[in-house]
Amino acid sequence: MLEISSLTIRYGAFLAVDGLDIVIGKGEIVGLIGPNGAGKTSTVKALGGLIRPAAGRIAFRGRDLAAVPAHERITLGLSIVPEGRGIFARMSVEENLLMGAYAFDGANKAARMRRVYDLFPILAERRWQAAGTMSGGQQQMLAVSMGLMAEPEMIVLDEPSLGLAPIVIEEIGKALIRLREAGVTVFLVEQNATLTADVSDRIYVMSNGTVLHHGTAEEITRNEDMLGALL
Ligand code: ATP
Repeated sequence: MLEISSLTIRYGAFLAVDGLDIVIGKGEIVGLIGPNGAGKTSTVKALGGLIRPAAGRIAFRGRDLAAVPAHERITLGLSIVPEGRGIFARMSVEENLLMGAYAFDGANKAARMRRVYDLFPILAERRWQAAGTMSGGQQQMLAVSMGLMAEPEMIVLDEPSLGLAPIVIEEIGKALIRLREAGVTVFLVEQNATLTADVSDRIYVMSNGTVLHHGTAEEITRNEDMLGALL
């Protein structure tokens, strides 16, 4: 589904991502964890087309994304939920969801919305509420749902656990598993190793712009030194 090879990202002379290799298969939940400044958000921005890599290749469903502008990536089936949620606080839940489908003129938006509400019934209950008045967890679910309104093949989530209480993070984890059951491939970019280990099939551990370790969630969590360093 997604193949990142030798991805290199520079900010001026500073090397933020240094030859990153990641492969994600259809139907997987793959985690990318690493400390602050590891280069995770830069990688997500490159996936979204918001920054141009200095070198390397990103292929999505076999297609090189280099020539695909940011706004067209969503129509290929690649949906990105940025760090910090990006919801419209004064707009209702339903209006936010419609914004998530802006690129899909003519699509049956009511049907898309029904599928989102099936996954997140709490959003259906609150469909007329201003998004900014909901809890942090509900706002995060809305951010994910906006990404789902595109009916993507793959959704990329940048730190969905940020600022949320552990019990709410658990809810997010359950939602990600439901997403996989619904056939969506998930790339979970996180600092929270517990959430990532709980839901991921495989995990890449990133530090200083490069992959330090890669394995199944079990293999990675067994390595206590590594987790200790991360947590
Ligand atoms: P965080 O969890 O804090 O978002 P991260 O793993 O996502 O961390 P990045 O945000 O990708 O890391 O940043 C990687 C490195 O690149 C950091 O050292 C950061 O200071 C640097 N960096 C990020 N954006 C810029 C920029 N626009 N200009 C210069 N340096 C940047």
